[in-house]
Amino acid sequence: PLTPYAAPDPQAGAAVKATDRAHVFHSWSAQELIDPLAVAGAEGSYFWDYEGNRYLDFASGLVFTNIGYQHPKVVAAIQEQAGKLATFAPAFALEARSEAARLIAERTPGDLDKIFFTNGGAEAVENAIRMARVHTGRPKVLSAYRSYHGATTTAINLTGDPRRWASDSGAAGVVRFWAPFLYRSPFYSSTEQEECARALDHLESVIAHEGPGTIAAVILETVPGTAGIMVPPPGYLAGVRELCDRHGIVFVADEVMAGFGRTGRWFATEHFDVVPDLLTFAKGVNSGYVPLGGVAISGAIADTFARRPYPGGLTYSGHPLACAAAVATIELMAEEGIVEQAAHLGDAVLGPGLRELAARHPSVGEVRGLGAFWAVELVRDRETREPLVPYNATGEANAPMAAFAAACRKNGLWPFVNMNRTHAVPPLTTSEAEAKEGLAALDAALAVADEHTV
Ligand code: PMP
Repeated sequence: PLTPYAAPDPQAGAAVKATDRAHVFHSWSAQELIDPLAVAGAEGSYFWDYEGNRYLDFASGLVFTNIGYQHPKVVAAIQEQAGKLATFAPAFALEARSEAARLIAERTPGDLDKIFFTNGGAEAVENAIRMARVHTGRPKVLSAYRSYHGATTTAINLTGDPRRWASDSGAAGVVRFWAPFLYRSPFYSSTEQEECARALDHLESVIAHEGPGTIAAVILETVPGTAGIMVPPPGYLAGVRELCDRHGIVFVADEVMAGFGRTGRWFATEHFDVVPDLLTFAKGVNSGYVPLGGVAISGAIADTFARRPYPGGLTYSGHPLACAAAVATIELMAEEGIVEQAAHLGDAVLGPGLRELAARHPSVGEVRGLGAFWAVELVRDRETREPLVPYNATGEANAPMAAFAAACRKNGLWPFVNMNRTHAVPPLTTSEAEAKEGLAALDAALAVADEHTV
């Protein structure tokens, strides 16, 4: 049941909502068909509305509040930086900026030791692709169908998610391929080893047919997030690394969602023992307290721009408030062992808890993930794996997922729902008791989804 939290003030909530409806144009939405919840406050893993309803945030916002809401150390660091130097242009050496870059570079794999700062994930992807193109002098980029890389022009073209369709410019130079996903294998594989080998053969063949000398980069989310948290089979990313090395192609690992502890390691590349040439990050770098993203750059690519200018930049690159928030976030994550906490949350609570739900609910086709990064794939028919709603369903066709999401919210859980999946992606700081509360709410909501199975 919903827990009353702050003193309810429905009138204030109605006023906020009315002004929002009059003037705010929301992302990804038909403006008149949405009814955004008016949020009064948030703390830790919870937020609450003006009616006094409290929700456990199993979405971490948009998978970015890795340390939860209103962490006092980060709030204080932002306040302190605002008092000292609230803003400054990018072409200067600043304490907060250089310290943030150092702390990030210390944690990124291999020799990814130079950091280019952006305001978010899509700009990080744009700049990684620009770096790869200038570095190699080649035009094309290969990306996976089941992917999300952001909503700016290049990033949305690289994205596989159907949200691309409406704004796809059909940009020359973007070529998509299938990455491994055993549950819905594009290669009709029955084992992880088979899926891995076939996916690598497929990529090798795409590279050969496109012409290796025309390909600047392969971009992959280390663990694809929005598209369904498909943990790659052992050996796949190492195989991609090897193909890229063989053909002089830049390997870009997009860790905007998977990075900064989400998978139970600082970066998901650590699980697979690969070092990309470029790594994009955002979200968890400072838990989104102030917009920040960036690209971690290898020595070889940094060298390309040692004596020739990098042809790109942003007014707010390395904004002091965002960087101060990143310094405080990374320091507290290290001090409080939050990355280890995420690994434990996955191993001890979320993994076993979700598998237990899968065993009891016919609507669950598969659960998969690691750390605080889990997907629950809902199906109408477990045998055929027919999704609970059709691919990219909207309106009536999406009714079963809408009913599932409504049941979550009724039970005090704010879910991350995309197509026929719900993702369990709470803050990494979520306690075992809170995570169990979330699993109980999912249990109740899955009973609603079960009614739509065959
Ligand atoms: N890459 C990945 C892997 C993402 O998950 C996202 C955001 N969900 C982006 C890029 C784009 O980030 P932003 O919305 O900050 O531009």
